[in-house]
Amino acid sequence: MKTLLFIFLSMLLFETPTIEKDRDRWKPYYTNVAPAKTADQWFLPFDVANRKKTINIKIISIFGDHRDSYVKGHIHTAIDINPAQPKSKLVGVYAMANGVVCSVHLGENQRTVVVKHKLPNGQTMFTSYKHLKEIYVSNGQQVDQNTKLARLFTPQESKKYGGDYHHLHLEIRKKFDDYGCASWLTFNKLQLNERFYNPQKFMKEYVK
Ligand SMILES: [Zn+2]
Repeated sequence: MKTLLFIFLSMLLFETPTIEKDRDRWKPYYTNVAPAKTADQWFLPFDVANRKKTINIKIISIFGDHRDSYVKGHIHTAIDINPAQPKSKLVGVYAMANGVVCSVHLGENQRTVVVKHKLPNGQTMFTSYKHLKEIYVSNGQQVDQNTKLARLFTPQESKKYGGDYHHLHLEIRKKFDDYGCASWLTFNKLQLNERFYNPQKFMKEYVK
């Protein structure tokens, strides 16, 4: 009997978190608003010399990489990027296209802004910007490529959290039905392809 109870308690304690079990926790940060304008032009999320040339970003980590941070063993749902040649110490993050801010969630080194976009074919999709030091927008705000959403951590500020947060974790999403938790609870390729585009492929196609 005691053994059974022990097994039961262990299961509760060490249960693997899933998107389905965690999503309700993040729903309160979501606002269901429609983008006023269609996303017909796409740009790099930084103030660089040419926001249409992907050569102006430096990729630190690719889509689909294995991750042991936050929740061990999850798959990297984004690309981690920085401007190739930052114009200033404080790197601003800009919306990639017309859209509306639909979620601002998490805190400290994981702060995230999500923008909902409407494509010319009527389809809805999302861009998500993570590891933001300061945020300048809020839910329901209509944005375009000139809207400064936030700024990144400086290498100095990043040190407080172990030094690995002075970059933009950029997700291009097909869905936001997980309200954000799929960013750390995606464990296989099926889940990855269900919700996320490969940002490098997406940019190759649309940022030009
Ligand atoms: Zn990342």
